[in-house]
Amino acid sequence: SLSIGIVGLPNVGKSSLFTALTKKSGFAANYPFATIEPNVGLVPVPDDRLDALAKIDNPAKIVPATVEFVDIAGLVAGASQGEGLGNKFLANIRETDAICEVVRFFSDPNVEHVSKKVDPQSDVETIKTELVLADIATVEKALPRLEKESKRDKTAVFKFETAKKVLEGLNEGHRVLTLGLSDEELAAVKDLCLLTCKPMLYIANVDEDQLDAELPEIDGQIPVPICAKTEADLAELDAEDAKMFMEELGLSESGLARLIREAYKLLGLQSYFTSGETETRAWTIPIGAKAPQAAGVIHSDFERGFIKAETASFEDYVALNGEKGCREAGKLRQEGKEYVVQDGDVMHFKFNV
Ligand code: GDP
Repeated sequence: SLSIGIVGLPNVGKSSLFTALTKKSGFAANYPFATIEPNVGLVPVPDDRLDALAKIDNPAKIVPATVEFVDIAGLVAGASQGEGLGNKFLANIRETDAICEVVRFFSDPNVEHVSKKVDPQSDVETIKTELVLADIATVEKALPRLEKESKRDKTAVFKFETAKKVLEGLNEGHRVLTLGLSDEELAAVKDLCLLTCKPMLYIANVDEDQLDAELPEIDGQIPVPICAKTEADLAELDAEDAKMFMEELGLSESGLARLIREAYKLLGLQSYFTSGETETRAWTIPIGAKAPQAAGVIHSDFERGFIKAETASFEDYVALNGEKGCREAGKLRQEGKEYVVQDGDVMHFKFNV
């Protein structure tokens, strides 16, 4: 499943948020370095459409898509140089698909701030610098090897040239993702696993009464406002009480739902469904994926042996009470290899084994 690393300076609310997201009881201490080991939590993606489908098919189980959140140990100024927890955290971020940075906006004077004042832009700059420095170290280390390879092998020349270009951008303080590289260039440096190649999502951990406030842009993005403390309280409640609590606060959805929605948007992801009497299930695919690729998310055999996909839109499936109704109404489409899957499609794959 999609994996997202949560980073941020110490004491910004990462652990609180992570705990709320994963509903595991966690340790949120009022001092820096509380989070030492990375924690991994598998979080179901909230999607009301699953319940609507389950009402029709009455499946034995409902399986939501999942996002893996990795709570990454405290990042401080100098981490790329081995300060604080040093390079250990960097290794953990390398394995994630995206980075979600929690930025402190809440004012609570009882919670110490590592740099003594609440200053989101400066905090973001600190983290960015560490990520950029870590990437500079990675590229510098790889360059001699890439140069050697480029002398032996013509196809490696482009790799070497791209790495040099990337290093130049990093040295000017830019994240690799913001250098405007072509797809070919990005592919050429892919195996360097650079941290700043990953999409960044910013979360503003705000005071409860700031949830509706207008936030300043961070790195060209409006951050997603979340109150980690409220989310932690919500996570303690059962579904019904949580709903009442959210209504009281004027929230239409949980921070988790909002966060995942934003992450999907950022990463260009969407869901399609399979539904029947055994299970009703959501699957995550990139926007633009064709039917065989979507089938491959279930099993590689489905992709290899793909014949066709019987497909109905979510709306038709619900309105016509399932597959049979869709078939009778002529709304069950037979889609082939070139079909571009749409968000919410309910699909049934036919394949050769
Ligand atoms: P981390 O070091 O980034 O993982 O931060 P923690 O989640 O451990 O939080 C540090 C401290 O800030 C804890 O005492 C939390 O209770 C507190 N805290 C976290 N989020 C909020 C928030 O939204 N509002 C307030 N007032 N305190 C918070």
